[in-house]
Amino acid sequence: MTALPAGWREGEIAIIGLAKSGTGAAALLAREGARVYASDSGEPETLGATAAELRILGVDVETGGHDLERIARAKLVVASPGVPPGAPPLAAARDAGVPVVSEIEVALRLLGNTRIIAVTGTNGKTTTTALVGHLLRSIGVTAIDAGNIGTPLSQVALNEHPSWIALEMSSFQLHDTPGLDPTVGVVTNLSPDHLDRYAGVDDYYADKAMLFRNASSASRWVLNADDDEVLNLAVRGAATSGYRPYTQPTLGKTHLFSLGNRDCEAYYDRNREALVVLGDVLLDRKDLALFGDHNVANALAASLAVMIADPDYAAVEARERIAGGLRSFRALKHRLEVAGEYDGVLWINDSKATNVSSTLVAIQGMTRPTILLLGGRHKGEPYTALAEPFGRVGKRVIAYGEAAPIIESDLGSLISVERLGSSFPDVIARASEIAESGDAILLSPACSSYDMFRNYEERGADFKRLATGKA
Ligand code: ADP
Repeated sequence: MTALPAGWREGEIAIIGLAKSGTGAAALLAREGARVYASDSGEPETLGATAAELRILGVDVETGGHDLERIARAKLVVASPGVPPGAPPLAAARDAGVPVVSEIEVALRLLGNTRIIAVTGTNGKTTTTALVGHLLRSIGVTAIDAGNIGTPLSQVALNEHPSWIALEMSSFQLHDTPGLDPTVGVVTNLSPDHLDRYAGVDDYYADKAMLFRNASSASRWVLNADDDEVLNLAVRGAATSGYRPYTQPTLGKTHLFSLGNRDCEAYYDRNREALVVLGDVLLDRKDLALFGDHNVANALAASLAVMIADPDYAAVEARERIAGGLRSFRALKHRLEVAGEYDGVLWINDSKATNVSSTLVAIQGMTRPTILLLGGRHKGEPYTALAEPFGRVGKRVIAYGEAAPIIESDLGSLISVERLGSSFPDVIARASEIAESGDAILLSPACSSYDMFRNYEERGADFKRLATGKA
């Protein structure tokens, strides 16, 4: 166990937000002897149990608001991912020059010898992270999936010290985790996203480039050779302040994966229909139970990341176990998940497709005439890129939610678009009215869910429930 950095003992540490990650960080810091003040704007009734548990550990908990002056005096502020950067407690910290970090930063300091494979990118982070964790466990080493994927890293650090962490990192988490120094860093792909939270795409990519901020000659990077933005990012990555293109190459060794380029260490051989990694066929495509080329890319990235993470993991026996792990891996919920087939209509739940590029791969993978449910809260990207591929398989787009007028204006003159309001049952009822046997109804919204649902999970669950109702 690594000791708490000396500077963190000198004053108070303020935790903003008491969801799972804030609670984990508060508990971990208190256990290590830090003085901790944790606050949340939520009401005492909803936070009562959490607050009581933390108070037992010596944390000073405030619910129903934040003491901004106290936060401004703190030595360090730990922000939950759900708290927007402009929220008053974070603004107070920044104005007072208090460093703001993620709970991941706190946990990293206390995880000791655990090694990290960190995964970022615009799409495929969760799937690739889950694959990395699953493949490591298939080899027989202890590994936990953490970070943006669900379990806060501080919860892991509180309870155990596995040999490996498969760590999913969002751009926001990268921004606030100055100590991240993974054994292997993976970038799946890059395209514009989160334009509702960033001033522009360069700012978003600049946060992604923070993956490389502690690069050294020992670092290993697994990069998507088919994506120029990813390759550029790695070159730019060493510049940590601002987005300074082409200043210096990133330190460490780069390992490339590709869906077609045979010069890469991991590639898809379309003639043999096989995934080739480090010179040999690792797996036949038919043995990977995941839909679409994008998932082949995810599997190549994860396999390569694991096989270069340690010299032993590329040995013959480990390769066989990794291949076995790929065979047994199943699609995650809400990611092109087949909800069922009712009256000959296939219902596909891709609720996690919250940007245009992820909806694009879903459309590209469709083979049936498709009714696409597109909509929710607009995130700033135009939808026009969907028109051409949708034209090939698409029957109709049903545009719904806050984004419906924008979708209609972007696509209405190019493909068949029907605009509805913000009642999800109405959207489902209309889709099943239009659908005929042999069609597919695809929920791949290219928008966030927050105008109508608590999160994408609730949206996907509603879709599945309403689809079953049509049986
Ligand atoms: P993330 O964690 O980056 O959001 P997920 O694995 O949760 O990634 O997948 C999110 C969405 O993106 C899903 O709709 C999924 O089908 C799609 N997707 C997954 N992998 C890729 C990829 N490599 N390229 C493009 N889209 C992808």
